[in-house]
Amino acid sequence: MAQVRVFNLGYDPETGIGELLHTTTVRHAFGMIRREVADPVELTMLGDRIVPTALELTRELSGAWVEGAGQRSVGFSYRAVHERDHWSCAYCSRSVSKTPACEALLATVDHILPSSRGGPSSWTNLVSACKECNNRKADRTPEEAGMHVRVEPYDPARSYRIAGHSEGLPILAPR
Ligand SMILES: [Zn+2]
Repeated sequence: MAQVRVFNLGYDPETGIGELLHTTTVRHAFGMIRREVADPVELTMLGDRIVPTALELTRELSGAWVEGAGQRSVGFSYRAVHERDHWSCAYCSRSVSKTPACEALLATVDHILPSSRGGPSSWTNLVSACKECNNRKADRTPEEAGMHVRVEPYDPARSYRIAGHSEGLPILAPR
């Protein structure tokens, strides 16, 4: 039986680097995807079926998300980055999806300043990007890659508070 690797939030599909938590069965992997606990990050053909070979949790397992000087930002997940960016690539503005019509439009999360260069996994350093743009940018800054970030990444919880709202963070609802 094929085993599916399960990575913590933050798996980098370009380099394959991530925190491997455990392996599970294909059957259990489909259950995790259905419950939106994890997203597939690698797929393969098994017989006549497309099955995941690697998953990434949609929320960091350790729970607390630290932004800035030890300040916790609730509700962070890579999925929430896509929601904030309206499932639109920050570089080419095309619509991205976890179930795209073509692989180029697979929803990925890009570190504007690459993590290999010390870029944090924070709201303000992450944007939604199509796989094609993410691959093209690779391990470079937007300037080095000659690419333009068309959105201003922000912390939705913080900006919502600044706007005078005290409750109802629509994209941050706990599951
Ligand atoms: Zn793009």
